[in-house]
Amino acid sequence: MRAPLVLAAILVAALLATASWHREPPPAFGFAASSEGAQSRLERRFLALPSAERIRQTHRFLAGEPHLAGSPRDQVLAEYVRDRFAAAGLDAVETSTHEVLLPWPEETSVEMLQPRAWRAAMQEETTGDAPGSRGRQQLGPPYHAYSASGEVTARVVFAGRGNPDDYTRLEAMGVDVRGAIVLVRYAVPYSYRGYTVLTAQQRGAAGILIYSDPADDGSVRGPVYPRGPWGPDSRIQRGSVAYDFLVPGDPLTPGWASTADAPRVTRDQALSLPRIMSAPLSATDARVLLEAIGGPEAPAAWRGGLPLTYRVGGGPLVVRLRVKSDDRVRPVWTVTGLIRGSERPDQIVIVGNHRDAWTYGGADPSSGTAAMLEMVQAFGELRRGGWRPKRSILFASWDAEEFSLISSTEWGEEHEAMLQAQAVAYINVDSGVSGRQFNASAVPALNRAVTEVAQLVKDPAAHIPVAAAFRDAVATGTLPDDAARDLVGNRFGGGSDYSVFLNFLGVPVADLSFRGPYGVYHSLYDNAEWVERIADPGFPYHVALVQSWGVLTLRLADADILPLDYQPYAARLREFIDEVRATWPLPEDFDEAASAASGLGAAAARLEAARRVALDRGDRTAQSQLDRRLIRTERALLDPDGLPGRPWYRQTIFAPQYSYAPEVLPAVAEAVQTGDPGRVNDALLRLTRAIRRAAEALDGP
Ligand SMILES: [Zn+2]
Repeated sequence: MRAPLVLAAILVAALLATASWHREPPPAFGFAASSEGAQSRLERRFLALPSAERIRQTHRFLAGEPHLAGSPRDQVLAEYVRDRFAAAGLDAVETSTHEVLLPWPEETSVEMLQPRAWRAAMQEETTGDAPGSRGRQQLGPPYHAYSASGEVTARVVFAGRGNPDDYTRLEAMGVDVRGAIVLVRYAVPYSYRGYTVLTAQQRGAAGILIYSDPADDGSVRGPVYPRGPWGPDSRIQRGSVAYDFLVPGDPLTPGWASTADAPRVTRDQALSLPRIMSAPLSATDARVLLEAIGGPEAPAAWRGGLPLTYRVGGGPLVVRLRVKSDDRVRPVWTVTGLIRGSERPDQIVIVGNHRDAWTYGGADPSSGTAAMLEMVQAFGELRRGGWRPKRSILFASWDAEEFSLISSTEWGEEHEAMLQAQAVAYINVDSGVSGRQFNASAVPALNRAVTEVAQLVKDPAAHIPVAAAFRDAVATGTLPDDAARDLVGNRFGGGSDYSVFLNFLGVPVADLSFRGPYGVYHSLYDNAEWVERIADPGFPYHVALVQSWGVLTLRLADADILPLDYQPYAARLREFIDEVRATWPLPEDFDEAASAASGLGAAAARLEAARRVALDRGDRTAQSQLDRRLIRTERALLDPDGLPGRPWYRQTIFAPQYSYAPEVLPAVAEAVQTGDPGRVNDALLRLTRAIRRAAEALDGP
């Protein structure tokens, strides 16, 4: 009985194995069957090249010292990146300098005057470790970049997370914030601190303190650094409070490049600069203020993880806040390098990551920078093996991202005409690895290309494709709390260097990372040690990031026809239109926009049919003509007049809200919020025109 069964089992297994041996995977999207063999050989070669140990060493060097934008260490790293680009054989390696407003801190002080005298420590505890103490010395006081400078003495009001609703709640409780210093919790992860400051400014507060509550990303969540990934009570989240959701980049050159002879607005004219003082606080320091604040108990949702009764204020507490920045214009350095394409050199795939950090930049951004340098090195080896991509690939190491997406914005504005003509996609990585969970967002045109890559690259621990590991995480509810539920998230907010490409230039963008619990964000504890010991021991997820980022880049650069698919874009648009329509009670007509979206879907389907024919026939002329149509399509979604009140943001489908949070159909959504039917109609008309232009671009000559 047993033997025949075993034999049968072996036979079946052998048959299955043979079957899967012979089942060739379908060609990657955009490739003809005849190109598939060469491409998959190239990719297999590439996938084997990244070295975890080399990434670890690169990362150690990058994150070994604090490297604030514009600092001597930032310049040393710019030179290091330049040399690594050159050593890998990139062409046209260049460092561009922009002179931009880059305030560094001189003083941040928070003093309690009543009911007793006390001064906030304003520093992170270091357990005697050398990097910690060195970092504290080099960095000066923790601060919010672009805070107003000055001094204010006032009573304190606790305002929850500082959202507009929280102020409405205070008003209902009879608590006046005008002239007060408001104390709020950092909203983790996605509310931008600049929005919190703008809201406080609009409500008439004289100053604002934003602290990290242990319930959000500290001890209530789990073990804290150095034992675990969460933030110890003394952690301080530095960061910018520039209003980059109005216009990013150098606040003194809004909408144009900060070249040497560029005109500059004054600090008072700059739209993106806050008018009130603002400072970050640790939980340790905030606790003292919250213990003294008095007044009625705070609403339940505002209470955090500190062992005290959260109250909104009204007691004797009086605080003096003093902030002084040097407000200097400083140079920042963008390093670029090119692999020139063999067949379509004037089509450029751009790959980028920022280099500057608030402190050591362990995860944010050195994990990404180390990955980019490893990819550059691997591409160099492919080239020495005789490979040259069809299209050009441009690598960029951005600077002062942390201040206001500065160097990518200035560089993008400077090269606007070239990029609008030639850029085919921009692939960003910021905090590359803070854990093990694959995370991708992209414009819907890139959904298919990104998904295919996630089906190819293996999760190092689970030994299954990262796409499958992602599905498992969704099924078991183990995604990090800020992750999208779709393998490729399509809702783009602000907060990284893709903004200039997506919102200003109309270039399809994607953003990749591996994420996990990350309670040390923008603190002294986001260092090499945190990444090496806690986030990615042995660096396997860095390797997986290089593989994902690299294969996506190789496919965009080498495809016979660009792997951009506008069918999912049209489907998403119909979803977004229904979503916004549901928030508008009046009879304004969303049908035209919806039918334009269906028209885009039909044009996209026609293009896909033409793609199959052009690929099957190997018709090079038809292939490059389809490329040209695909490149024009994302550009067509720009409205040259921009969004009402923020003309820099020209893309009609995605924009940041006044926070990092994504907003879809921004002009329409904001018009709906005003309740003005005329504005809603105008915004719908502009949206409809943009979608029609995109459909025409797909169909066009
Ligand atoms: Zn970053």
